[in-house]
Amino acid sequence: MKPYKPSGKAPASGIMRLGLSTVIGNIVAGGLIHLLGRLIYVILVFPLLMGATAGGLAFAASYGGKIRNPLLTVAAGLLGGLCIYGTTHGADYVVFRSESGARVDELLEERVGESGFVGYLKYSAQQGVSIGKIGRDGINLGETGTWVYWLIELAIIEMVAGAIAYGAASQVFCEKCSEWYDSATPIGGVSPEKGNVFLEALKAQNFSQAAQSIGPVLSNTNSSLKISHCLCPACREEGEILLSVAEDRTDKNGNNLWSKTVKEELLTPREYQQFMAAIPTQSADSEQV
Ligand SMILES: [Zn+2]
Repeated sequence: MKPYKPSGKAPASGIMRLGLSTVIGNIVAGGLIHLLGRLIYVILVFPLLMGATAGGLAFAASYGGKIRNPLLTVAAGLLGGLCIYGTTHGADYVVFRSESGARVDELLEERVGESGFVGYLKYSAQQGVSIGKIGRDGINLGETGTWVYWLIELAIIEMVAGAIAYGAASQVFCEKCSEWYDSATPIGGVSPEKGNVFLEALKAQNFSQAAQSIGPVLSNTNSSLKISHCLCPACREEGEILLSVAEDRTDKNGNNLWSKTVKEELLTPREYQQFMAAIPTQSADSEQV
């Protein structure tokens, strides 16, 4: 049993694809978000949307381009976040230029001592961003407040984009077949009482003992474990198998809030066989109930 380490490899075609999708994809998406924002701009929601777009584009291009280099994927996500946010401000600037007539640069120079895009940003900050409820006069954040607000927006975008891209980078790839592993298939669950025994046995690499704690997947039980596996679509049981253990978190009413991955390791085919063979059959379990 060992943790998965990406090989760091990235085919040239994949890098091309990642680069193009990062720049072009985010500029196009930024333009669309700008248009949408002219109708209605919802604070927090728009930065989240932009971050998800930049991260999603990095994810898709890395997956399609078979990029196994987390650094590249995360960098593309972060760069994409800058691109998409820059585009929305850039589009505002284009609209501002077209609405302000021929003397726009002179005007900016007069007001903020700088022309062009930078002058426009300074001027917009000076005017201040207003936030508030729809249909009412908002609160003007003032010049400093506006810069801070823009920085917070950018930070949200970068965090979301980075997190999504990082998720893509931790996908498992079979170097032998040059294929991504299939998505996770559930094997079973471990009740909260047996959780520690299970994890200890797994840590000790005692796969048949660990497997004995596995029963049916429990839904809506706080701190129950969900066990699943991922296989290479070509190697199947002949190759290394990714075993993942996720811990469920539920609220007071038993609704599933989220699952946290507590362990993710590659098993050799032999280890996997030992593990799977020792899982109690479902029928024996239902007799106990
Ligand atoms: Zn394979």
